[in-house]
Amino acid sequence: MNIITTVVGSYPTHAYDAKTFNERLSDSLGLYDPYRQAIVNAVTSFVKRDIDIICDGQVREDMVKIFAGKINGFKIVDNTAYIKGKITPAARGISTKDLHFAYKVAKSLDDRFELNASLDKIYAHQQRGIKGIITGPTTIVHSSIIDNFYSSKKNAIYDIAKALSYEAKELEKGGACAIQIDEPFISTGAEDIEVSKKAVEYISTSVDIPVILHVCGDLKDVLEDLLSFDVDILDFEFSGMPQNIKTLKKAWTPECDKQIGIGCLNTKLESVDDEGDVKKTVNDVCKIIDKQNILIDPDCGMRMLDEDVAKGKLEVIQSIRNNGV
Ligand SMILES: [Zn+2]
Repeated sequence: MNIITTVVGSYPTHAYDAKTFNERLSDSLGLYDPYRQAIVNAVTSFVKRDIDIICDGQVREDMVKIFAGKINGFKIVDNTAYIKGKITPAARGISTKDLHFAYKVAKSLDDRFELNASLDKIYAHQQRGIKGIITGPTTIVHSSIIDNFYSSKKNAIYDIAKALSYEAKELEKGGACAIQIDEPFISTGAEDIEVSKKAVEYISTSVDIPVILHVCGDLKDVLEDLLSFDVDILDFEFSGMPQNIKTLKKAWTPECDKQIGIGCLNTKLESVDDEGDVKKTVNDVCKIIDKQNILIDPDCGMRMLDEDVAKGKLEVIQSIRNNGV
């Protein structure tokens, strides 16, 4: 069995003040980036713990604002995203610069990191890669207020999907080994699943690299539908949501060619998970999906955790990656 690890996204962070002379000089010119050091910090932590598919740590703003702040048609007022006009793609890639910077940091620490790394080589532990993360269309629209232009959420979702497919293509060109679409809102039932599906597939079919769809929460009403989405990997929470194992067992069929990202660290638990518990979660899912290649990761974002606890948690999946289940 080949086991690889990834992270879902956000990592503990804080903005770093300008300290050195050069940093203070850039700051005075409005050019200092307080998040650059946070990316270095997150990436270093991932690489040290043998994470095979890293990300930039999603250290910049929250998952909605990072896109709504750049895509045309939105306006952020008092921390809330408002849709004010026709949604069209951002002028340039939103997160490609951070992807590149994170790659450079990772490569300097471990030569196995490659741009456009292949999933097969990552499973063979020959390469490591960096994925691009996009907040999904359903989640962005349901976290925003429609103020103008759209009479239904559905059309706004489709226009965001078009704007985000541009972002996905930029990340692919920038060297991402995969695109992860985060759609926490799908499991809430707030949107017609057919609309969410069409929007996700608009993005997934626009790139040639593997696409991961991350949906958190209780999947009992949506998992069967999710198995039919045109994506390569479905990433779910199983540790803090053990009922998802039962739901998967009911819905899974041996013909399913999708890979399942096994969320096996409980990110709501503010201490390091017991390795035996984590192994049990992985084994329970493995028995259902019966795959040679296994992808394991934390349940969901780690941002709210104490940094030392986050590191300790990653060391648990590092041990499973290196020693097996
Ligand atoms: Zn999540």
